[in-house]
Amino acid sequence: MTQQTFSGTHGDMKCECADHACPVCKGNCRQVATGILYRVDMDDVTGTAFCEGCGEDAMESGLFTAAANMRPLEPESDMERERRTR
Ligand SMILES: [Zn+2]
Ligand SMILES: [Zn+2]
Repeated sequence: MTQQTFSGTHGDMKCECADHACPVCKGNCRQVATGILYRVDMDDVTGTAFCEGCGEDAMESGLFTAAANMRPLEPESDMERERRTR
């Protein structure tokens, strides 16, 4: 039986925070990531891995959002395609 817990599935992923102004890590984080956050100012489909502390700060900065659940795996909508062809 495979255990699928939130933190467990990301066990090998490290926090990718590169924000030098980050109060948690100063842009040099070695923590294990606990989740994926997505940029709000660009078409970010891959996301960035964050540990708990950096993730909270990233969301507070307004640059990232935890919108993973709002991006289901399906053909891109007309709205998204329009944005890309600009
Ligand atoms: Zn971090
Ligand atoms: Zn950080």
